[in-house]
Amino acid sequence: WVKENGKDNYSIYEGYMIEKSANIMELELELRKAVENQEFILYYQPKIDLNTEEIVGCEALIRWDHPRRGIISPEKFIPLAEETGLINQIGEWVLREACKQNKKWHDTGWSDIQMAVNMSVSQLKQSNIVTTIESLLIETQLDPRFLEIEITESISMVTEEEKIKQLFDLKEFGISLAIDDFGTGYSSLKYLNKLPVDTLKIDKYFIDEVGMSTYSTSSLMVNAIISLAKSLNLKVVAEGIETQEQMKYLKKHQCDIGQGYFLCKPLPADELEKFFKR
Ligand code: C2E
Ligand code: MG
Ligand code: MG
Ligand code: MG
Repeated sequence: WVKENGKDNYSIYEGYMIEKSANIMELELELRKAVENQEFILYYQPKIDLNTEEIVGCEALIRWDHPRRGIISPEKFIPLAEETGLINQIGEWVLREACKQNKKWHDTGWSDIQMAVNMSVSQLKQSNIVTTIESLLIETQLDPRFLEIEITESISMVTEEEKIKQLFDLKEFGISLAIDDFGTGYSSLKYLNKLPVDTLKIDKYFIDEVGMSTYSTSSLMVNAIISLAKSLNLKVVAEGIETQEQMKYLKKHQCDIGQGYFLCKPLPADELEKFFKR
């Protein structure tokens, strides 16, 4: 009886797996089509100087504008794009689009805005990534100082000297480098020493508890990350600010820059322009 039941479960499980992989295969096919048909759009979320309340930059965040399913969040398709290698093409589209948009804003008079673009580690592993980015900047005529690359801490798992050298090459070209989701990744402080980092972005996870009680472990960690950043001469950005209390706390503890729904949600370019005008 036990055996039989086990067998039944197995076949249910097997059926589920087949169904699941069929879904993934369908999604993969659709993702390939999306690359061809340019079904992606960029939203932009501003970064605000917490002291002056000025916009210092924005972050480009991709969405898939699926013809039937509507807007799909990056969390749903970026992992698949990474697995299938499609991330390289998608990432190049993001870089070009974001640089073009920033150049347009600069030409319109919003000339201090720095554009941040998220990059997967697999993109950085491409041997021609440095020349790709350099030629995109030349093509779009954006000053490299106004481009920042955000990478997550998993970059610390990229140990080969060659990959690290690419980051130094980009840096030499004038591009800035931010560590995204700082504090939650496969962290080792060692790479802060080894990589040419300009900015730390404190993960929303720590910001969530800030401002509720001054002595929560999270707020103490936020203080520690801010002072770490300051002592290494890095810019520090708080991600995912959702309340006035969080903003007050961060300002009081000398966090330079903030980002979050409380300040502004990610918006399409034309809607963000209305926000710039305020
Ligand atoms: P991330 O780079 O850490 O971006 C922050 C995420 O938090 C964004 O989600 C943003 O919309 C969201 N967010 C901002 N403020 C708040 C807030 O106050 N509350 C809450 N709950 N969320 C907030 P999104 O746009 O869904 O992007 C998710 C992740 O997908 C990004 O995390 C990034 O890792 C990845 N991603 C987005 N665009 C790209 C891209 O062009 N290329 C690559 N490789 N990854 C991307
Ligand atoms: Mg980011
Ligand atoms: Mg982040
Ligand atoms: Mg994230």
